[in-house]
Amino acid sequence: KFICFLTCHVRMTHQYPALSPEQKKALATIAQRIVAPGKGILAADESTGTMGKRLQKINVENTEENRRTFRDLLFSVDASISESVGGVIFFHETLYQKSNTSVPFPKLVKDKGIVVGIKVDKGTARLNGTDDETTTQGLDGLSERCAQYKKDGCDFAKWRCVLKISGCCPSALSIAENANVLGRYASICQQNGLVPIVEPEILPDGDHDLQRCQYVTEKVLAAVYKALSDHHVYLEGTLLKPNMVTAGHSCTKKYTPEEVAMATVSALRRTVPAAVPGICFLSGGQSEEEASLNLNAINQTPLHKPWKLTFSYGRALQASALAAWKGRAENKKAAQDAFCTRAKINGLASKGEYKPTGQADQAAMKSLYTASYNY
Ligand code: 13P
Repeated sequence: KFICFLTCHVRMTHQYPALSPEQKKALATIAQRIVAPGKGILAADESTGTMGKRLQKINVENTEENRRTFRDLLFSVDASISESVGGVIFFHETLYQKSNTSVPFPKLVKDKGIVVGIKVDKGTARLNGTDDETTTQGLDGLSERCAQYKKDGCDFAKWRCVLKISGCCPSALSIAENANVLGRYASICQQNGLVPIVEPEILPDGDHDLQRCQYVTEKVLAAVYKALSDHHVYLEGTLLKPNMVTAGHSCTKKYTPEEVAMATVSALRRTVPAAVPGICFLSGGQSEEEASLNLNAINQTPLHKPWKLTFSYGRALQASALAAWKGRAENKKAAQDAFCTRAKINGLASKGEYKPTGQADQAAMKSLYTASYNY
C-alpha cells in the first residue's frame, strides 16, 4: 500500500516537460513584444460575415476586394503606428491577401515591427440542454493549421469562447467546457510556437449590475487558469483577452470608469497569475471613447497590477475609420487618421496617461453594442 501511495504520488507530481527551455523563451519573448509599454493589439480578424455587417453600415458591398481595401488602409498607415500597436490579429483570408502595392499583408505589418497573429477558432456551437450557451469549435486539425500559420509568418493566435450572464448562466457546464477547450487550444498553439491569446468573453447582454459581472468574471477566470494549469500551459508565453467588468447593457444603473476599473482590476487580481505578461481587453460594444476612458482608469487604479493592462480592440479601433472611409478612395487618408488617433489614445490609456479633451467626435462616442455578438 505504501509503495502504491508513493508511486501514485510521484506520478501525479512528475512532470513530463511540455516545452523545451528554448521554446519557452521564444514564446515569452513574443508575448512581451506584443504588450511592450504603450502597445496593444488591433483585432482585425472579423470573419467574412461580421465584416459584411460592418460594411453594410456604410453601404459597401461585402466583396473580397472591399474587405481587402479596408484592411489595406489599416495596415498601410505610417510605421509610427508601431509605437501603439504591438500586434495585429488576422483572419485567414487576410493573411493571404496583398496590399495595393502588392506586398503580402503579413510582410507589410511585420516590416513595421508589429507581430502577426491569426484567429484559429471556427466559431461557436450550441451546448445542448443549456439556455443557448455555447462552446467553441476548431480543435480538429488545429496543430497542423498552427504549424502552417507559423510558417506563413504568424507568431500568435486567438481563440474566442463566449459566456453569457442570465438568471442561470453561465452554467457549470459552460464554464468547465469553455475553460477546458481554451486550455487544449493554448497547449496546441505553444507546441507550434504560437503565443495563445486566451479569450473567455463574457457578453455584456443583460440587465445585471457591476457586482454580478465581477462575480461571474472571477468564477470564469478561476476555471480558465485551473484548466491552463491542467493542460501544462506555460503562462509566461500566453496573453489573456477578457471582457472588462461592466454592468449589463440594459442595467439602469450607470457606473463611472473608476468603478468599472476597480471591479475589473479586483477580479483580475483574484484570478490571473502574475506570470501572465499581459491582459488585453476586448472592447465588447463599448464606444471608442468609453473603451479608452475605461482602459485609462484601469491603469490608474491604485492597486498593484503585476501584468500589462492594454487593449485588443476590434470595434473600438475601427469604428470611426469605417465611418470616415465610406468605401471611397478619396477618404482613405481621413480613415487612416481616424484609426491612428484611436490607436494613439489607447496606447496612452494603456499607460494611464490619456488626458481626454472632451472633444471626441460623434463616431467615437457612438455605442458599438450588438446583442449576442458573433465575431
Ligand atoms: P471587440 O473589441 O470589437 O469586442 O472585438 C475584439 C475581438 O477580437 C473579439 O474576439
